[in-house]
Amino acid sequence: MTDVNLSKTDIERFWTFVDRKGPDDCWLWTGGGNPKRYGHFSIGPRAITITALAHRVSYFLAYGATDLQVLHHCDVPRCVNPAHLLLAHKKLIVSIAKRKQSQ
Ligand SMILES: [Zn+2]
Repeated sequence: MTDVNLSKTDIERFWTFVDRKGPDDCWLWTGGGNPKRYGHFSIGPRAITITALAHRVSYFLAYGATDLQVLHHCDVPRCVNPAHLLLAHKKLIVSIAKRKQSQ
């Protein structure tokens, strides 16, 4: 994500795919991607389109560049509410996944 430049048009288009609710609610992605998995967002002109994960774009817009993994507090893959997203190193993700399996 660090070397992706989002134009004003891209950013405006991004939010048209988000069902924005209250600050504590999940904001569900209504655009492309597998309905049960992460949302996908296409950036840039058609010939050189980059497909990014919607929740990572949301994190990028809210908090700035990141090339780390972005996790959900809420465990809802299609949620793009920046308040529900957090950064994690891959090691941390593995330990969270293991903890969840053992619960
Ligand atoms: Zn959420």
